[in-house]
Amino acid sequence: MDVYFPSSYEDSRTRFLSSLSLIQQKWHSTQLQTHPLKNFPDLSIDWLWAHASKKETLVIISTAEHGIEGYVGYALMKIFIEEFAPRLDPENTGLLLIHGLNPWGMKYHRKVNENSVDLNRNFVFDGNFDPAINSEFHQVRDLINPQTRIRSFGIENIKFWGRVLKAIFTSGIATVTKAALLGQHHTPNGFYYGGTTYQEGTVVAMKLYRRALDEYQSVIQIDMHTGYGPRDQMSIIMSPLDTMTSEGTSNKFNYPLVLKINAEEFYEISGDMAAYYYELRDKSFPDKQLFACGFEFGTFGSSLLARIRSLRAMVFENQLHWRGAKNEGIAHRVRREFEELYFPAEKKWREKALADGRQAFDGILRAYHLI
Ligand SMILES: [Zn+2]
Repeated sequence: MDVYFPSSYEDSRTRFLSSLSLIQQKWHSTQLQTHPLKNFPDLSIDWLWAHASKKETLVIISTAEHGIEGYVGYALMKIFIEEFAPRLDPENTGLLLIHGLNPWGMKYHRKVNENSVDLNRNFVFDGNFDPAINSEFHQVRDLINPQTRIRSFGIENIKFWGRVLKAIFTSGIATVTKAALLGQHHTPNGFYYGGTTYQEGTVVAMKLYRRALDEYQSVIQIDMHTGYGPRDQMSIIMSPLDTMTSEGTSNKFNYPLVLKINAEEFYEISGDMAAYYYELRDKSFPDKQLFACGFEFGTFGSSLLARIRSLRAMVFENQLHWRGAKNEGIAHRVRREFEELYFPAEKKWREKALADGRQAFDGILRAYHLI
């Protein structure tokens, strides 16, 4: 059994629940809550409140917004609980630890939830799931959404590269990137589908985030992700709605890689969780402090070739889900590559991920004078 990285959703949940006794030793006012999924009652979103005596700062750690990314997410949660929480002052610092925002995706090793919705495109602030956003989507529909069964990995690979080159030559890399990743609200079997209604995980998170800002003066939120960015360096991803620059944030946290979620530094997202949180603060809690970010652990790398390989892994996995494969051997190969994109097996990668996570936790908590 790996000490940090769980082997299944159930393993992760059991470990999360059992680690809470550590929190209870320090925070006397704790409350464990659970939300079983309506249609999958064996799967649940679980969270722990550990309240400060004086509600000054709340630290929120959340995992598995993108289901499969919750395995690395749990490892970082464990590090936070075991190595950093004991150094916080329960007098003025509270915790909200959320395990498995998308438990179905975590259980079945998918990024999306049971309704094929990417939760990080579902936090649409005004509830208007506008089908007209991402007008360029139709330019990449054929590239990312093939309608055929996977008959051979090799042939499918050649066809994929043909579609990539065609899309890049006709639309350009910037447009292809934006169209593929921004999100959309009309095609459930095309990925980065943001849905047409709020999902269960989204509603749970929204209520928790509102309560957090309502009760605490200052909220720091860290949401765990994998898959994008350089392989050997975790990126702290922050909202363009935060007034700090990425360079200023990098200095403040003494952490080498900070990127804003925009086309220049990362890529554009519509309906992402951090943006929702800033909009909620600005509209309803303008006098409260908020820093909401993601830890994004890169896997394949950030070169153009690596990004296209990531796209291929996502396209093939989505194609396998909707159209199937000719045999189990092909299906296994597709699943294995997808797994590598979000939960790499390499020991060296995992050790560096934990080290980067430690460094970033340390930098953020120090910058806010919490440790
Ligand atoms: Zn993610």
